[in-house]
Amino acid sequence: MQSQGQSKGLSQTDSLVLGFFVFKTWFQGVRIVWLYHATFMLNSICHIWGHQAWNTGDLSKNNWWVALLVFGEGWHNNHHAFEYSARHGLEWWQIDITWYVIWFLEAIGIATNVKVPTDVQKQKKSNSINTQMIDKFFPK
Ligand SMILES: [Zn+2]
Repeated sequence: MQSQGQSKGLSQTDSLVLGFFVFKTWFQGVRIVWLYHATFMLNSICHIWGHQAWNTGDLSKNNWWVALLVFGEGWHNNHHAFEYSARHGLEWWQIDITWYVIWFLEAIGIATNVKVPTDVQKQKKSNSINTQMIDKFFPK
């Protein structure tokens, strides 16, 4: 039998604590599952389907829809060609959310010594016929 003034459910504090742990557990679980699936998907799909813009000597490909899902890492051929680069979406139309964050952090002075490929480095790895012909007939 309940006395007058007692509620039947959880108290407000108990509800907040329970909600916090449910949210925290769910958020952490979803985050980890998303991270693992995205990583494995990326390394599978981007070595099978997509476009190879750079001569990397491997099967890495740029895949736009994977890039959207994994915040830019789907520009995987770019990543293989210039592994030191903070920027994976090297063209203006290659959406790279991670790069936008790094660019912002650099702009406000938090990130320093951010590396991106130079035009000369890009030309050396270019998959275009002209560059390959120049390299073939005029080796460095
Ligand atoms: Zn790879």
